[in-house]
Amino acid sequence: RHLEQMVRERTQDVQEEAEKVQAILSSMADGVLVTDAEGRLVTANAAAEELLGFRWTDVAYQPVSRSGLTHPMWEHVAQMIRHPDQPGNVVVEFPSPVDDSPQIINARAAPIRLNHDIIGVVIVLRDITALKEVERMKARFIAGVTHELKTPLSIIKLHVENLLAYYDRLPAEKQMELLHTVQNQTGLLDRLIDDVLTLSRLDTVHEAEWQTVNLPELVGGVVEELRALAQARNLTLTWQASEELPVPVIPDQFERAVRNLVDNAIKYTPAGGEIQVAVRQELADDQPRIRIEVRDTGIGIPPEHQQRIFDHFYRVDTSHTTPGTGLGLSIVREIVNAHGGSLHVESTPGAGSVFTILLPLHTPADTERAEQ
Ligand code: ADP
Repeated sequence: RHLEQMVRERTQDVQEEAEKVQAILSSMADGVLVTDAEGRLVTANAAAEELLGFRWTDVAYQPVSRSGLTHPMWEHVAQMIRHPDQPGNVVVEFPSPVDDSPQIINARAAPIRLNHDIIGVVIVLRDITALKEVERMKARFIAGVTHELKTPLSIIKLHVENLLAYYDRLPAEKQMELLHTVQNQTGLLDRLIDDVLTLSRLDTVHEAEWQTVNLPELVGGVVEELRALAQARNLTLTWQASEELPVPVIPDQFERAVRNLVDNAIKYTPAGGEIQVAVRQELADDQPRIRIEVRDTGIGIPPEHQQRIFDHFYRVDTSHTTPGTGLGLSIVREIVNAHGGSLHVESTPGAGSVFTILLPLHTPADTERAEQ
């Protein structure tokens, strides 16, 4: 009886251990497939089922090659199982079994060894679609930066070469014209580098940089900073704010976002025009939020360009009649997103534009948490 009792207890222990392993496997975000030495599937977790679109009960204990599995990844899995002693690592792109969107999966295989024998293979599947997309976006961004840096640089190079070669023969007017172009292009390079640095710094924000500020005061400060510029261009710049609105923000960043919007309004509004900046609290679905509006009577943006102006380097007028880098609005959008808000545009060509930042207003408890 004692022996029976011991066997029962041991069996229960073993069962509990097995259940624990199952629980760990099923809570893993990565897909896991395990085969035995004969290439039969002995374990698959929920993530693997979802990634490759199959049901464990349909394939349990069957050889991968004969299980009627259709997903293109199985071919690679079968290959890995055939050569368990070679470390396998493949990246495969195909339409997702869920919604047909492009999906990229990385599969890594490792042999399971017991006393020098290979008793099976474990394959870990990871969805790296988002990671690859970030890599692609970074590569596109770097290609964009390089292209944008090259244009002013080649203009500067050409003009300096001309000045060096023909300085004495050029009329004074032409000399000045070339030098002014060099000056403008140098300014553009400077702004480009500054914008690229700003964008790269947005990724590395520390908690300590959040502060609760009175938002109308912050916005008002930026407006006052730019007042002289608006006056120099003969534009009326007004701003209104209602009450005090304490909001947790990263002040340097938020100022930058508002500055970019007001700066654009000044740049893209012909002399005699008007720019209005307003900050107010409102209710949306019973939830309080803050609306910051920058409204101008400028050249406006044709509808077909309105969504693309937030992309890196996108400019409606590519002839560079108005200086700019095409990065300003993408910086604003990233900053606003990092603050949990959203950025919108409404515009009528020839009549003007309204850029709006909507920011969810945090409850006092959230504010306290942000401060901590
Ligand atoms: P930049 O102003 O340096 O070109 P932005 O990213 O700030 O870059 O803006 C992208 C484009 O959106 C601008 O080139 C311009 O065509 C358009 N745009 C932005 N703000 C306004 C505005 N207030 N009125 C008209 N067009 C605008």
